[in-house]
Amino acid sequence: MSQRIAILPEIITNKIAAGEVVERPASVIKELIENSLDAGATDISVEIAAGGRRLIKITDNGHGMSREDALLSLERHATSKIRSDNDLDGIHTLGFRGEALPSIASVSRLRLSSRETDSPEGTEIIVEGGKVRDVKACGMAPGTVISVEQLFFNTPARLKFLRSAETEAGHVGDCLTRMAISRPDVAFSCSSDGRDLLRVQRGDLLRRLSQALGKGTAASLHELHLSRDGIDISGYISSPAACRSTTSAMFTYINGRFIRDKVIQHAIMQAYRGVMDRGRYPVVALFIQLPPAEVDVNVHPTKHEVRFRRQALVHDTLQSALEELLKRSPWLHRPQTPVQPAAAGAPSISQAYRERVAAAAQASLAMARKPDYPRFHETARPQPDPQHPPGTESVSVRETTPSFLPREPAADPQGYFSGLRIIGQFHDEYILCQSGDQLVIIDQHAASERVAFQKLRGQFETGGVESQRLLFPETLELSFSEADTARRFNNELARIGFELEPFGGNTVIVSAIPRLAIARDASRLVRDLLAELTQLGASSAFLDSRDALLSRIACHSVVRGVHRLEERQIRELLHGMDGTDFAASCPHGRPVSHVITLGELEKIFKRT
Ligand code: ADP
Ligand code: MG
Repeated sequence: MSQRIAILPEIITNKIAAGEVVERPASVIKELIENSLDAGATDISVEIAAGGRRLIKITDNGHGMSREDALLSLERHATSKIRSDNDLDGIHTLGFRGEALPSIASVSRLRLSSRETDSPEGTEIIVEGGKVRDVKACGMAPGTVISVEQLFFNTPARLKFLRSAETEAGHVGDCLTRMAISRPDVAFSCSSDGRDLLRVQRGDLLRRLSQALGKGTAASLHELHLSRDGIDISGYISSPAACRSTTSAMFTYINGRFIRDKVIQHAIMQAYRGVMDRGRYPVVALFIQLPPAEVDVNVHPTKHEVRFRRQALVHDTLQSALEELLKRSPWLHRPQTPVQPAAAGAPSISQAYRERVAAAAQASLAMARKPDYPRFHETARPQPDPQHPPGTESVSVRETTPSFLPREPAADPQGYFSGLRIIGQFHDEYILCQSGDQLVIIDQHAASERVAFQKLRGQFETGGVESQRLLFPETLELSFSEADTARRFNNELARIGFELEPFGGNTVIVSAIPRLAIARDASRLVRDLLAELTQLGASSAFLDSRDALLSRIACHSVVRGVHRLEERQIRELLHGMDGTDFAASCPHGRPVSHVITLGELEKIFKRT
């Protein structure tokens, strides 16, 4: 009988472990920074070259390692953080698996130098693909320096999965932002190819958030503190108006460790439900402290997931903490109207609201007075009925004049939509039209979005989206990754109508935006687009996502929710709809129009 099974040599098991822990340069940096923090460092600096593919170097001022410990730290399952099974139930450090260093060393050329504070000299160890090549004494400041060169040099399959240097640097920036927010008491700096990616001094959490996410964002944050049933929650959450189009500004930590957890995210979204539009996400930096025995972080080697012992309790406590704060917040006492969030310096909400109501009232008067406007069918209701003021009447669709027979849309030179007979508006959200014996209901918001999208796409294809300069350029403070995206995609942004000028640090000046969106909140639009672009990574992907970006601009360019339209505006919209190549759904895929036939109505009213 031959022996089939063999225990793998450690050099291979380390490589296998590296597959789980070390996905890309950012994951190396996460592990190394966690080690620095566990070693009590108060100053951590990171240097990367070529997005971390060529070099990752981390210097800390932590307690360092002796020569023996430094050598041991490179062995699999060697850790100073736990000793026994019992310790697993009460982990107070970020690391504990003793896997990171040997894993990283097995897939790179690694140099580890470390010196304990009271030791006269340090130790330098050189490792190549997991094999120790040299160990010697060295002069250095107390602390630890680890440099990782040529990551994945001996695992070509892994190397292939790495994206461009810019994309990898973007991930590094995100990782550092998460770590920096988790420890405002530690100074962090990071340079990428000699350029500062991030530099933050020691301070409090609000100052850190302001440095990492921009002053504007920090100004919209509200502080939260709650201690209940052994759960401590603290941090900051944003007003619903300062929300984002992605979850990228949701920073949640359990016992100091950044996590992305469905339960936590659900609790947050539940609290904001009703005060925030669908598809938007708040800015939050939330720290949840639980007794270590209440939470299992040993779910995945990257420790981004956790398991709660009492999941429902954590969920409900978090949700109610947020709801209580949101309820008390001044931004929720404004009138519940579909007004766009006011930009800084814009008239107060109530004033804007009053103006809008006045404008809407005028528009509706103009509509009601217009003699040729077929708002309601004359034969069904020959006299204006004082019992039914405009806007409350039910709509009659029974057609007696034979001029609106069903038509073949294609044969109509006017186009299907502009050929429709307008009945009126329902609830200031839907346009009701008639085509022969069909009642055509159009979602005015979805339709406007579709028309705007089509216009933008047409402009893009013929030389670029039309841009308009802002009367008052807006200064926008960005997060590190947003600022980086703005720099990298400057040319592409110009093609879709934006002009952003760098203004030192992470600040940009928005001086022009697409003409179609000119009446809207420019800063919010720019932020949303940067979020979308950040997810793209390389600029080569820009063209593939053109439609997503244009539809985002289209979405911003139209008035949301309830909005009284004049007949002229309805006609314009219908005309525009004829120009779209498929008018059936808005860019988000929601339907734009819906038909109810006379037959269907007759069935409802039991006439047949
Ligand atoms: P873990 O962090 O899970 O213990 P690692 O492989 O990441 O495992 O690190 C192994 C050990 O090396 C740590 O337990 C710690 O004692 C030591 N070590 C690693 N990095 C540092 C550092 N920057 N400063 C001091 N000690 C460190
Ligand atoms: Mg570690």
